[in-house]
Amino acid sequence: MATMIERAESLVRDNPFIELRLDYLPQPQAALPKLKNFIELHPEATFISTCRRAANGGKFKGSVAAQVAILRKAAEIGFPLADLEVQSAEALKPDELKDLYDRIGLIISYHDFRSTRKLEEHLAAMSRLPADFYKVVSTATNLHDNVVMMKFLEAHSGGHEMVGLCMGEQGIISRVLGVRAGSVFTFASAMRGEETAVGQVPASELRDVYRIEMVDQATQVYGVVGDPIAHSLSPVMMNAAFRRETVNAVYLAMHAKSLKDLLACMQEIPIRGLSVTMPYKQEILEALENSDALTRQIGACNTVVRGAGGQLYGFNTDVAGIVAPLEQRMHLAGARILIVGAGGAARAGAFGLRAKGAEVFITNRTPEKAQALARQSKAKYLKRVDVAKQQFDVVMNATPVGLNGSKQSPLNENELNTKYVFDLVYTPAETPLLRMARSRDLQVISGLEMFVQQGARQFEIWTGKPAPIAEMGYVVTKALERRAAEEKIEEPAPPVRRAGPKSQPKPKPATRKIAQKAAKAGRKR
Ligand code: NAP
Repeated sequence: MATMIERAESLVRDNPFIELRLDYLPQPQAALPKLKNFIELHPEATFISTCRRAANGGKFKGSVAAQVAILRKAAEIGFPLADLEVQSAEALKPDELKDLYDRIGLIISYHDFRSTRKLEEHLAAMSRLPADFYKVVSTATNLHDNVVMMKFLEAHSGGHEMVGLCMGEQGIISRVLGVRAGSVFTFASAMRGEETAVGQVPASELRDVYRIEMVDQATQVYGVVGDPIAHSLSPVMMNAAFRRETVNAVYLAMHAKSLKDLLACMQEIPIRGLSVTMPYKQEILEALENSDALTRQIGACNTVVRGAGGQLYGFNTDVAGIVAPLEQRMHLAGARILIVGAGGAARAGAFGLRAKGAEVFITNRTPEKAQALARQSKAKYLKRVDVAKQQFDVVMNATPVGLNGSKQSPLNENELNTKYVFDLVYTPAETPLLRMARSRDLQVISGLEMFVQQGARQFEIWTGKPAPIAEMGYVVTKALERRAAEEKIEEPAPPVRRAGPKSQPKPKPATRKIAQKAAKAGRKR
Protein backbone atom coordinates (compact mmCIF):
# COMPACT_ATOMS: atom_id res chain seq x y z
CA MET A 1 0.00 0.00 0.00
CA ALA A 2 2.81 2.40 0.89
CA THR A 3 4.41 1.78 -2.53
CA MET A 4 1.08 2.24 -4.31
CA ILE A 5 0.42 5.54 -2.54
CA GLU A 6 3.97 6.72 -3.13
CA ARG A 7 3.70 5.90 -6.84
CA ALA A 8 0.26 7.48 -7.19
CA GLU A 9 1.53 10.57 -5.35
CA SER A 10 4.37 10.96 -7.84
CA LEU A 11 1.99 10.59 -10.80
CA VAL A 12 -1.08 12.48 -9.75
CA ARG A 13 0.10 15.98 -10.63
CA ASP A 14 0.57 15.09 -14.31
CA ASN A 15 -2.07 12.37 -14.40
CA PRO A 16 -5.18 13.45 -12.50
CA PHE A 17 -7.01 10.29 -13.61
CA ILE A 18 -5.62 7.12 -12.08
CA GLU A 19 -6.76 3.53 -11.80
CA LEU A 20 -5.61 1.86 -8.57
CA ARG A 21 -5.36 -1.87 -9.00
CA LEU A 22 -6.42 -2.96 -5.53
CA ASP A 23 -6.05 -6.60 -6.59
CA TYR A 24 -2.27 -6.08 -6.62
CA LEU A 25 -2.38 -5.52 -2.83
CA PRO A 26 -2.07 -8.60 -0.61
CA GLN A 27 -5.04 -7.49 1.55
CA PRO A 28 -7.03 -4.83 -0.26
CA GLN A 29 -9.89 -4.67 2.26
CA ALA A 30 -7.55 -3.97 5.17
CA ALA A 31 -5.47 -1.50 3.16
CA LEU A 32 -8.35 0.69 1.96
CA PRO A 33 -8.63 2.97 5.01
CA LYS A 34 -5.03 4.06 4.36
CA LEU A 35 -6.06 5.25 0.91
CA LYS A 36 -8.79 7.50 2.31
CA ASN A 37 -6.35 10.17 3.38
CA PHE A 38 -4.59 10.13 0.01
CA ILE A 39 -7.85 10.47 -1.92
CA GLU A 40 -9.02 13.33 0.29
CA LEU A 41 -5.71 15.11 -0.27
CA HIS A 42 -6.33 15.05 -4.04
CA PRO A 43 -9.84 16.31 -4.70
CA GLU A 44 -8.71 17.45 -8.17
CA ALA A 45 -8.01 13.85 -9.21
CA THR A 46 -10.34 11.04 -10.27
CA PHE A 47 -9.55 7.53 -9.11
CA ILE A 48 -10.85 4.22 -10.40
CA SER A 49 -10.89 1.32 -7.96
CA THR A 50 -10.33 -2.04 -9.60
CA CYS A 51 -10.05 -5.35 -7.81
CA ARG A 52 -9.97 -7.78 -10.70
CA ARG A 53 -10.47 -11.43 -9.79
CA ALA A 54 -7.77 -13.93 -10.75
CA ALA A 55 -10.35 -15.90 -12.75
CA ASN A 56 -10.79 -12.87 -15.00
CA GLY A 57 -7.15 -11.89 -15.50
CA GLY A 58 -6.48 -10.04 -12.21
CA LYS A 59 -4.75 -11.00 -8.99
CA PHE A 60 -7.60 -11.04 -6.44
CA LYS A 61 -8.17 -14.56 -5.16
CA GLY A 62 -11.34 -13.85 -3.15
CA SER A 63 -14.98 -14.46 -4.01
CA VAL A 64 -17.23 -12.14 -6.01
CA ALA A 65 -18.91 -11.15 -2.73
CA ALA A 66 -15.51 -10.18 -1.26
CA GLN A 67 -14.66 -8.27 -4.44
CA VAL A 68 -17.89 -6.29 -4.29
CA ALA A 69 -17.40 -5.60 -0.57
CA ILE A 70 -14.03 -4.04 -1.44
CA LEU A 71 -15.56 -1.87 -4.17
CA ARG A 72 -18.34 -0.76 -1.80
CA LYS A 73 -15.69 0.18 0.75
CA ALA A 74 -13.83 2.03 -2.02
CA ALA A 75 -17.00 4.04 -2.68
CA GLU A 76 -17.24 4.85 1.02
CA ILE A 77 -13.73 6.25 1.22
CA GLY A 78 -14.26 8.49 -1.81
CA PHE A 79 -13.44 6.61 -5.01
CA PRO A 80 -15.79 8.05 -7.65
CA LEU A 81 -15.38 5.09 -10.02
CA ALA A 82 -15.11 1.32 -9.83
CA ASP A 83 -14.32 -1.22 -12.54
CA LEU A 84 -16.17 -4.53 -12.23
CA GLU A 85 -15.67 -7.26 -14.79
CA VAL A 86 -18.82 -8.49 -16.48
CA GLN A 87 -18.35 -12.03 -15.14
CA SER A 88 -18.62 -10.72 -11.56
CA ALA A 89 -21.47 -8.38 -12.46
CA GLU A 90 -23.42 -11.29 -13.94
CA ALA A 91 -22.79 -13.39 -10.84
CA LEU A 92 -24.46 -10.79 -8.63
CA LYS A 93 -28.17 -10.64 -7.88
CA PRO A 94 -29.76 -7.69 -9.73
CA ASP A 95 -30.37 -5.76 -6.49
CA GLU A 96 -26.74 -6.30 -5.36
CA LEU A 97 -25.46 -4.90 -8.64
CA LYS A 98 -27.97 -2.05 -8.49
CA ASP A 99 -26.79 -1.27 -4.97
CA LEU A 100 -23.16 -0.98 -6.17
CA TYR A 101 -24.25 1.08 -9.18
CA ASP A 102 -26.11 3.45 -6.84
CA ARG A 103 -23.01 3.94 -4.70
CA ILE A 104 -20.29 4.55 -7.29
CA GLY A 105 -19.72 5.39 -10.97
CA LEU A 106 -19.63 1.89 -12.39
CA ILE A 107 -17.50 0.64 -15.28
CA ILE A 108 -18.54 -2.82 -16.38
CA SER A 109 -15.65 -4.36 -18.25
CA TYR A 110 -15.07 -7.26 -20.59
CA HIS A 111 -11.58 -8.51 -21.44
CA ASP A 112 -10.63 -10.96 -24.17
CA PHE A 113 -7.00 -11.94 -23.64
CA ARG A 114 -6.75 -13.86 -26.92
CA SER A 115 -8.61 -12.20 -29.75
CA THR A 116 -10.91 -9.46 -31.05
CA ARG A 117 -14.16 -11.30 -31.67
CA LYS A 118 -17.86 -10.95 -31.06
CA LEU A 119 -17.56 -7.43 -29.65
CA GLU A 120 -21.22 -6.67 -30.41
CA GLU A 121 -22.39 -9.80 -28.64
CA HIS A 122 -20.41 -8.95 -25.53
CA LEU A 123 -21.70 -5.41 -25.48
CA ALA A 124 -25.27 -6.62 -25.90
CA ALA A 125 -24.87 -8.84 -22.81
CA MET A 126 -23.14 -6.10 -20.81
CA SER A 127 -25.63 -3.41 -21.67
CA ARG A 128 -28.39 -5.40 -19.98
CA LEU A 129 -26.57 -4.57 -16.73
CA PRO A 130 -26.70 -1.08 -15.20
CA ALA A 131 -23.41 0.83 -15.64
CA ASP A 132 -22.03 4.29 -16.32
CA PHE A 133 -19.35 3.04 -18.73
CA TYR A 134 -19.06 -0.14 -20.75
CA LYS A 135 -15.46 -1.13 -21.28
CA VAL A 136 -14.59 -3.66 -23.97
CA VAL A 137 -10.96 -4.69 -24.19
CA SER A 138 -9.81 -7.31 -26.68
CA THR A 139 -6.45 -8.52 -27.95
CA ALA A 140 -5.17 -7.58 -31.39
CA THR A 141 -3.64 -10.56 -33.16
CA ASN A 142 -3.18 -8.50 -36.32
CA LEU A 143 -3.34 -4.84 -37.30
CA HIS A 144 -6.83 -5.13 -38.72
CA ASP A 145 -8.20 -5.98 -35.27
CA ASN A 146 -7.63 -2.30 -34.43
CA VAL A 147 -9.95 -1.38 -37.27
CA VAL A 148 -12.57 -3.79 -35.89
CA MET A 149 -12.30 -2.19 -32.46
CA MET A 150 -12.51 1.35 -33.77
CA LYS A 151 -15.52 0.61 -35.99
CA PHE A 152 -17.17 -0.97 -32.97
CA LEU A 153 -16.51 2.16 -30.90
CA GLU A 154 -17.79 4.42 -33.66
CA ALA A 155 -20.98 2.38 -33.93
CA HIS A 156 -21.79 2.27 -30.21
CA SER A 157 -20.33 5.35 -28.54
CA GLY A 158 -23.45 7.30 -29.47
CA GLY A 159 -25.64 5.00 -27.41
CA HIS A 160 -23.35 4.26 -24.46
CA GLU A 161 -20.38 5.76 -22.66
CA MET A 162 -17.83 3.39 -24.17
CA VAL A 163 -14.23 2.57 -23.38
CA GLY A 164 -12.46 0.32 -25.85
CA LEU A 165 -8.99 -0.71 -26.93
CA CYS A 166 -6.96 -3.69 -28.10
CA MET A 167 -4.28 -5.17 -25.89
CA GLY A 168 -1.17 -6.78 -27.35
CA GLU A 169 1.84 -5.40 -29.19
CA GLN A 170 -0.32 -4.95 -32.29
CA GLY A 171 -2.93 -2.90 -30.45
CA ILE A 172 -1.09 0.42 -30.36
CA ILE A 173 -3.30 1.90 -33.11
CA SER A 174 -6.41 1.48 -30.95
CA ARG A 175 -4.64 2.80 -27.85
CA VAL A 176 -3.83 6.06 -29.64
CA LEU A 177 -6.76 6.42 -32.06
CA GLY A 178 -9.50 4.72 -30.00
CA VAL A 179 -10.29 7.96 -28.21
CA ARG A 180 -11.22 9.70 -31.44
CA ALA A 181 -13.31 6.68 -32.45
CA GLY A 182 -15.44 7.21 -29.34
CA SER A 183 -13.63 5.69 -26.36
CA VAL A 184 -14.22 8.08 -23.45
CA PHE A 185 -10.75 7.39 -22.10
CA THR A 186 -7.93 4.93 -22.50
CA PHE A 187 -5.39 3.15 -20.29
CA ALA A 188 -1.65 3.58 -19.97
CA SER A 189 0.98 2.22 -17.61
CA ALA A 190 2.42 4.30 -14.80
CA MET A 191 5.84 3.73 -16.29
CA ARG A 192 7.81 1.31 -18.46
CA GLY A 193 8.01 -2.10 -16.79
CA GLU A 194 4.80 -1.52 -14.80
CA GLU A 195 2.30 -2.54 -17.46
CA THR A 196 -0.86 -4.22 -16.20
CA ALA A 197 -1.71 -5.42 -19.72
CA VAL A 198 0.36 -6.44 -22.74
CA GLY A 199 0.98 -3.56 -25.11
CA GLN A 200 0.31 -0.82 -22.56
CA VAL A 201 2.30 2.32 -23.29
CA PRO A 202 3.57 4.49 -20.42
CA ALA A 203 1.28 7.46 -19.78
CA SER A 204 4.14 9.92 -20.35
CA GLU A 205 4.83 8.35 -23.77
CA LEU A 206 1.16 8.43 -24.74
CA ARG A 207 1.13 12.15 -23.91
CA ASP A 208 4.58 13.32 -24.96
CA VAL A 209 5.41 11.06 -27.92
CA TYR A 210 1.95 10.30 -29.33
CA ARG A 211 0.32 13.54 -28.07
CA ILE A 212 -2.90 11.67 -27.43
CA GLU A 213 -4.59 14.76 -26.05
CA MET A 214 -4.18 16.47 -29.44
CA VAL A 215 -5.52 13.59 -31.53
CA ASP A 216 -8.78 14.54 -33.22
CA GLN A 217 -10.70 13.71 -36.38
CA ALA A 218 -8.33 15.81 -38.48
CA THR A 219 -5.17 14.10 -37.19
CA GLN A 220 -3.30 12.42 -40.06
CA VAL A 221 -2.00 8.96 -39.31
CA TYR A 222 1.49 7.80 -40.30
CA GLY A 223 3.54 4.88 -39.12
CA VAL A 224 6.45 2.55 -39.44
CA VAL A 225 5.70 -1.00 -40.49
CA GLY A 226 7.90 -4.02 -39.98
CA ASP A 227 8.29 -7.32 -38.18
CA PRO A 228 9.62 -6.98 -35.52
CA ILE A 229 9.08 -3.29 -34.80
CA ALA A 230 9.01 -2.89 -31.01
CA HIS A 231 12.49 -1.37 -30.83
CA SER A 232 12.07 1.13 -33.65
CA LEU A 233 13.13 4.67 -32.78
CA SER A 234 11.10 6.08 -35.66
CA PRO A 235 8.00 6.91 -33.53
CA VAL A 236 10.09 8.99 -31.14
CA MET A 237 11.78 10.81 -33.99
CA MET A 238 8.85 11.37 -36.33
CA ASN A 239 6.35 12.36 -33.64
CA ALA A 240 8.89 14.89 -32.38
CA ALA A 241 9.15 16.29 -35.91
CA PHE A 242 5.36 16.58 -36.24
CA ARG A 243 5.16 18.24 -32.83
CA ARG A 244 7.91 20.72 -33.57
CA GLU A 245 6.43 21.73 -36.93
CA THR A 246 2.89 21.77 -35.46
CA VAL A 247 1.64 19.22 -37.99
CA ASN A 248 -1.58 17.60 -36.81
CA ALA A 249 -0.32 14.06 -37.32
CA VAL A 250 0.57 11.02 -35.28
CA TYR A 251 3.10 8.33 -36.14
CA LEU A 252 2.66 4.78 -34.85
CA ALA A 253 4.78 1.62 -34.74
CA MET A 254 2.83 -1.05 -36.60
CA HIS A 255 3.80 -4.64 -36.15
CA ALA A 256 2.50 -6.29 -39.34
CA LYS A 257 2.91 -10.04 -39.58
CA SER A 258 1.88 -9.87 -43.24
CA LEU A 259 1.70 -7.20 -45.87
CA LYS A 260 -1.90 -8.16 -46.62
CA ASP A 261 -2.89 -7.27 -43.06
CA LEU A 262 -1.15 -3.91 -43.34
CA LEU A 263 -2.76 -3.03 -46.67
CA ALA A 264 -6.25 -3.87 -45.42
CA CYS A 265 -5.66 -1.71 -42.36
CA MET A 266 -4.17 1.09 -44.43
CA GLN A 267 -7.25 1.60 -46.55
CA GLU A 268 -9.64 1.68 -43.63
CA ILE A 269 -7.90 3.89 -41.08
CA PRO A 270 -6.71 5.60 -43.48
CA ILE A 271 -2.95 5.88 -43.07
CA ARG A 272 -1.40 8.76 -45.04
CA GLY A 273 2.17 7.57 -45.13
CA LEU A 274 4.44 4.75 -44.07
CA SER A 275 8.04 4.13 -43.26
CA VAL A 276 8.76 0.59 -44.38
CA THR A 277 11.38 -1.54 -42.74
CA MET A 278 12.45 -5.19 -42.68
CA PRO A 279 11.12 -7.50 -44.04
CA TYR A 280 8.76 -5.52 -46.29
CA LYS A 281 11.04 -3.14 -48.22
CA GLN A 282 10.98 -5.31 -51.36
CA GLU A 283 7.54 -6.90 -51.01
CA ILE A 284 5.77 -3.55 -50.74
CA LEU A 285 6.88 -2.66 -54.29
CA GLU A 286 4.16 -4.95 -55.66
CA ALA A 287 1.47 -2.97 -53.86
CA LEU A 288 2.58 0.40 -55.24
CA GLU A 289 0.82 2.34 -57.97
CA ASN A 290 4.11 3.98 -58.87
CA SER A 291 7.57 4.76 -57.56
CA ASP A 292 10.53 6.90 -58.62
CA ALA A 293 13.24 5.57 -60.93
CA LEU A 294 15.89 5.21 -58.22
CA THR A 295 13.52 3.21 -56.00
CA ARG A 296 12.83 0.83 -58.88
CA GLN A 297 16.55 0.46 -59.64
CA ILE A 298 17.34 -0.23 -56.00
CA GLY A 299 14.43 -2.64 -55.81
CA ALA A 300 13.48 -1.55 -52.30
CA CYS A 301 11.10 1.06 -50.93
CA ASN A 302 11.23 2.50 -47.42
CA THR A 303 8.69 5.31 -47.82
CA VAL A 304 5.07 5.16 -48.92
CA VAL A 305 2.64 7.98 -49.54
CA ARG A 306 -1.07 7.30 -49.85
CA GLY A 307 -2.80 9.41 -52.50
CA ALA A 308 -6.30 10.86 -52.10
CA GLY A 309 -7.78 7.94 -54.03
CA GLY A 310 -5.97 5.37 -51.91
CA GLN A 311 -3.16 4.72 -54.42
CA LEU A 312 0.24 4.05 -52.89
CA TYR A 313 3.42 5.75 -54.14
CA GLY A 314 6.89 4.61 -53.12
CA PHE A 315 10.24 6.30 -52.52
CA ASN A 316 13.59 5.26 -51.13
CA THR A 317 14.88 7.81 -48.64
CA ASP A 318 17.73 5.54 -47.51
CA VAL A 319 19.48 7.10 -50.51
CA ALA A 320 19.16 10.57 -48.95
CA GLY A 321 20.15 9.05 -45.62
CA ILE A 322 23.49 7.99 -47.10
CA VAL A 323 24.09 10.81 -49.57
CA ALA A 324 23.17 13.81 -47.36
CA PRO A 325 25.70 13.22 -44.53
CA LEU A 326 28.45 12.74 -47.14
CA GLU A 327 27.47 15.76 -49.24
CA GLN A 328 27.69 17.89 -46.08
CA ARG A 329 31.38 16.93 -45.91
CA MET A 330 32.64 16.58 -49.49
CA HIS A 331 31.95 16.83 -53.21
CA LEU A 332 30.75 13.41 -54.18
CA ALA A 333 31.68 13.67 -57.86
CA GLY A 334 34.87 11.63 -58.22
CA ALA A 335 35.00 10.66 -54.51
CA ARG A 336 36.28 7.10 -53.95
CA ILE A 337 33.82 5.25 -51.74
CA LEU A 338 34.00 1.66 -50.54
CA ILE A 339 30.75 -0.03 -49.56
CA VAL A 340 31.03 -3.17 -47.42
CA GLY A 341 27.88 -5.25 -47.96
CA ALA A 342 25.53 -5.87 -50.85
CA GLY A 343 22.09 -5.91 -49.18
CA GLY A 344 19.32 -3.31 -49.22
CA ALA A 345 21.27 -0.46 -47.59
CA ALA A 346 24.30 -1.13 -49.80
CA ARG A 347 22.05 -1.00 -52.88
CA ALA A 348 20.66 2.39 -51.82
CA GLY A 349 24.23 3.59 -51.29
CA ALA A 350 25.59 2.23 -54.56
CA PHE A 351 22.85 3.65 -56.80
CA GLY A 352 22.58 6.93 -54.86
CA LEU A 353 26.32 7.59 -54.81
CA ARG A 354 26.79 6.61 -58.45
CA ALA A 355 24.01 9.04 -59.36
CA LYS A 356 26.12 11.75 -57.67
CA GLY A 357 29.17 10.81 -59.73
CA ALA A 358 31.13 9.02 -56.98
CA GLU A 359 33.51 6.19 -57.85
CA VAL A 360 31.97 3.30 -55.88
CA PHE A 361 33.68 0.05 -54.86
CA ILE A 362 31.76 -2.88 -53.40
CA THR A 363 33.01 -5.77 -51.33
CA ASN A 364 30.87 -8.38 -49.59
CA ARG A 365 30.99 -11.62 -47.66
CA THR A 366 29.24 -13.32 -50.59
CA PRO A 367 31.25 -12.08 -53.59
CA GLU A 368 28.58 -12.93 -56.20
CA LYS A 369 26.16 -10.47 -54.63
CA ALA A 370 28.73 -7.69 -54.66
CA GLN A 371 29.58 -8.50 -58.28
CA ALA A 372 25.91 -8.35 -59.28
CA LEU A 373 25.34 -5.06 -57.48
CA ALA A 374 28.52 -3.58 -58.98
CA ARG A 375 27.33 -4.57 -62.44
CA GLN A 376 23.84 -3.16 -61.95
CA SER A 377 24.93 0.13 -60.40
CA LYS A 378 28.03 0.63 -62.59
CA ALA A 379 30.26 0.40 -59.53
CA LYS A 380 33.45 -1.68 -59.17
CA TYR A 381 33.68 -5.02 -57.42
CA LEU A 382 36.59 -5.32 -55.01
CA LYS A 383 37.86 -8.58 -53.57
CA ARG A 384 38.22 -8.39 -49.83
CA VAL A 385 41.96 -9.15 -50.06
CA ASP A 386 42.41 -6.06 -52.22
CA VAL A 387 40.68 -3.64 -49.83
CA ALA A 388 43.87 -2.97 -47.82
CA LYS A 389 45.75 -2.05 -51.00
CA GLN A 390 43.37 0.77 -51.91
CA GLN A 391 42.97 4.35 -50.77
CA PHE A 392 39.42 5.75 -50.29
CA ASP A 393 37.71 8.96 -49.31
CA VAL A 394 34.97 7.04 -47.49
CA VAL A 395 34.64 3.51 -46.19
CA MET A 396 31.03 2.64 -45.47
CA ASN A 397 29.74 -0.34 -43.50
CA ALA A 398 26.40 -1.57 -44.87
CA THR A 399 26.36 -4.86 -42.96
CA PRO A 400 24.87 -5.53 -39.51
CA VAL A 401 28.34 -6.34 -38.11
CA GLY A 402 28.81 -4.35 -34.88
CA LEU A 403 25.09 -4.14 -34.14
CA ASN A 404 23.72 -4.24 -30.58
CA GLY A 405 26.85 -4.59 -28.53
CA SER A 406 28.66 -7.05 -30.81
CA LYS A 407 32.42 -6.58 -30.49
CA GLN A 408 33.05 -7.38 -34.16
CA SER A 409 34.15 -4.96 -36.84
CA PRO A 410 33.40 -5.54 -40.54
CA LEU A 411 36.94 -4.38 -41.48
CA ASN A 412 40.38 -4.63 -39.95
CA GLU A 413 42.51 -1.67 -39.00
CA ASN A 414 44.84 -2.05 -42.00
CA GLU A 415 41.83 -1.82 -44.33
CA LEU A 416 40.87 1.67 -43.17
CA ASN A 417 42.93 3.64 -45.68
CA THR A 418 40.41 6.43 -45.83
CA LYS A 419 39.52 9.92 -44.62
CA TYR A 420 36.02 9.06 -43.42
CA VAL A 421 34.44 5.95 -41.92
CA PHE A 422 30.64 5.83 -42.17
CA ASP A 423 28.93 3.06 -40.21
CA LEU A 424 25.26 2.66 -41.12
CA VAL A 425 24.72 0.69 -37.91
CA TYR A 426 23.42 3.09 -35.24
CA THR A 427 22.75 0.88 -32.24
CA PRO A 428 25.06 1.49 -30.46
CA ALA A 429 25.91 5.01 -31.59
CA GLU A 430 29.62 4.23 -31.28
CA THR A 431 30.24 0.87 -32.98
CA PRO A 432 33.51 -1.11 -32.78
CA LEU A 433 34.27 0.09 -36.34
CA LEU A 434 33.83 3.75 -35.40
CA ARG A 435 35.89 3.27 -32.24
CA MET A 436 38.68 1.76 -34.31
CA ALA A 437 38.46 4.64 -36.79
CA ARG A 438 38.60 7.26 -34.02
CA SER A 439 41.65 5.57 -32.53
CA ARG A 440 43.33 6.11 -35.91
CA ASP A 441 42.25 9.76 -35.97
CA LEU A 442 39.93 9.20 -38.91
CA GLN A 443 36.75 11.21 -39.31
CA VAL A 444 33.66 9.21 -38.39
CA ILE A 445 30.02 9.42 -39.45
CA SER A 446 27.49 7.60 -37.29
CA GLY A 447 24.54 5.62 -38.62
CA LEU A 448 22.41 7.98 -36.53
CA GLU A 449 23.01 10.63 -39.16
CA MET A 450 21.66 8.31 -41.82
CA PHE A 451 18.68 7.43 -39.65
CA VAL A 452 17.84 11.08 -39.08
CA GLN A 453 18.39 12.09 -42.71
CA GLN A 454 16.24 9.29 -44.16
CA GLY A 455 13.50 10.25 -41.68
CA ALA A 456 13.88 13.93 -42.52
CA ARG A 457 13.36 13.21 -46.19
CA GLN A 458 10.24 11.16 -45.34
CA PHE A 459 8.89 14.06 -43.33
CA GLU A 460 9.47 16.39 -46.28
CA ILE A 461 7.79 14.03 -48.74
CA TRP A 462 4.74 13.68 -46.48
CA THR A 463 4.31 17.27 -45.33
CA GLY A 464 6.05 19.43 -47.94
CA LYS A 465 7.80 21.21 -45.04
CA PRO A 466 11.52 21.28 -44.21
CA ALA A 467 12.25 18.72 -41.51
CA PRO A 468 13.38 19.87 -38.05
CA ILE A 469 16.60 17.88 -38.30
CA ALA A 470 18.23 19.18 -35.10
CA GLU A 471 15.19 18.23 -33.03
CA MET A 472 14.98 14.81 -34.68
CA GLY A 473 18.65 14.14 -33.99
CA TYR A 474 18.29 15.31 -30.41
CA VAL A 475 15.35 13.07 -29.51
CA VAL A 476 16.89 10.00 -31.15
CA THR A 477 20.19 10.57 -29.37
CA LYS A 478 18.37 10.94 -26.06
CA ALA A 479 16.25 7.84 -26.70
CA LEU A 480 19.37 5.81 -27.49
CA GLU A 481 21.03 7.07 -24.31
CA ARG A 482 17.95 6.10 -22.29
CA ARG A 483 17.88 2.70 -23.91
CA ALA A 484 21.58 2.14 -23.27
CA ALA A 485 21.05 3.11 -19.62
CA GLU A 486 18.07 0.77 -19.36
CA GLU A 487 20.04 -2.05 -20.89
CA LYS A 488 23.04 -1.05 -18.80
CA ILE A 489 25.22 -0.72 -21.87
CA GLU A 490 27.79 1.97 -21.39
CA GLU A 491 27.52 3.62 -24.77
CA PRO A 492 27.47 7.40 -24.67
CA ALA A 493 26.03 8.78 -27.91
CA PRO A 494 27.82 11.74 -29.48
CA PRO A 495 26.18 14.99 -28.40
CA VAL A 496 23.67 16.49 -30.80
CA ARG A 497 22.70 20.11 -30.31
CA ARG A 498 19.03 20.76 -29.71
CA ALA A 499 17.22 23.47 -31.64
CA GLY A 500 15.95 26.46 -29.64
CA PRO A 501 12.57 26.30 -27.95
CA LYS A 502 9.48 26.81 -30.04
CA SER A 503 6.04 27.37 -28.61
CA GLN A 504 3.85 24.28 -28.58
CA PRO A 505 0.09 24.29 -29.12
CA LYS A 506 -1.78 23.77 -25.88
CA PRO A 507 -3.22 20.26 -25.60
CA LYS A 508 -6.96 19.95 -25.45
CA PRO A 509 -8.07 19.46 -21.86
CA ALA A 510 -9.40 16.00 -22.71
CA THR A 511 -8.22 14.47 -19.47
CA ARG A 512 -9.91 17.18 -17.44
CA LYS A 513 -13.17 16.67 -19.33
CA ILE A 514 -13.07 12.94 -18.68
CA ALA A 515 -12.29 13.51 -15.03
CA GLN A 516 -15.27 15.86 -14.68
CA LYS A 517 -17.51 13.38 -16.42
CA ALA A 518 -16.30 10.54 -14.25
CA ALA A 519 -16.60 12.60 -11.08
CA LYS A 520 -20.16 13.50 -12.05
CA ALA A 521 -20.91 9.81 -12.43
CA GLY A 522 -19.64 9.32 -8.90
CA ARG A 523 -21.59 12.27 -7.46
CA LYS A 524 -24.91 11.49 -9.06
CA ARG A 525 -25.85 9.01 -6.36
P1 NAP B 1 20.55 -6.84 -45.61
O1 NAP B 1 19.80 -6.50 -46.84
O2 NAP B 1 20.18 -8.02 -44.82
O3 NAP B 1 22.10 -7.00 -46.05
C1 NAP B 1 23.06 -7.36 -45.12
C2 NAP B 1 24.44 -7.35 -45.77
O4 NAP B 1 25.37 -7.56 -44.73
C3 NAP B 1 24.64 -8.46 -46.79
O5 NAP B 1 25.48 -8.00 -47.80
C4 NAP B 1 25.33 -9.56 -45.97
O6 NAP B 1 26.23 -10.33 -46.70
C5 NAP B 1 26.15 -8.71 -45.01
N1 NAP B 1 26.40 -9.44 -43.77
C6 NAP B 1 25.47 -9.91 -42.90
N2 NAP B 1 26.06 -10.49 -41.85
C7 NAP B 1 27.41 -10.42 -42.09
C8 NAP B 1 28.55 -10.85 -41.37
N3 NAP B 1 28.42 -11.47 -40.19
N4 NAP B 1 29.76 -10.60 -41.89
C9 NAP B 1 29.89 -9.97 -43.06
N5 NAP B 1 28.86 -9.53 -43.79
C10 NAP B 1 27.62 -9.75 -43.30
O7 NAP B 1 20.56 -5.62 -44.60
P2 NAP B 1 20.43 -4.05 -44.95
O8 NAP B 1 19.02 -3.64 -44.99
O9 NAP B 1 21.30 -3.75 -46.11
O10 NAP B 1 21.05 -3.39 -43.63
C11 NAP B 1 22.40 -3.54 -43.27
C12 NAP B 1 22.65 -2.76 -42.01
O11 NAP B 1 22.56 -1.37 -42.30
C13 NAP B 1 21.59 -3.01 -40.94
O12 NAP B 1 21.98 -4.01 -40.06
C14 NAP B 1 21.44 -1.71 -40.25
O13 NAP B 1 22.21 -1.73 -39.07
C15 NAP B 1 22.03 -0.71 -41.21
N6 NAP B 1 20.99 0.23 -41.66
C16 NAP B 1 20.99 1.44 -41.09
C17 NAP B 1 20.06 2.38 -41.47
C18 NAP B 1 20.08 3.74 -40.83
O14 NAP B 1 19.10 4.47 -40.95
N7 NAP B 1 21.15 4.09 -40.19
C19 NAP B 1 19.12 2.07 -42.47
C20 NAP B 1 19.14 0.81 -43.05
C21 NAP B 1 20.09 -0.11 -42.64
P3 NAP B 1 25.77 -11.62 -47.55
O15 NAP B 1 25.37 -11.08 -48.89
O16 NAP B 1 26.98 -12.46 -47.59
O17 NAP B 1 24.63 -12.25 -46.80
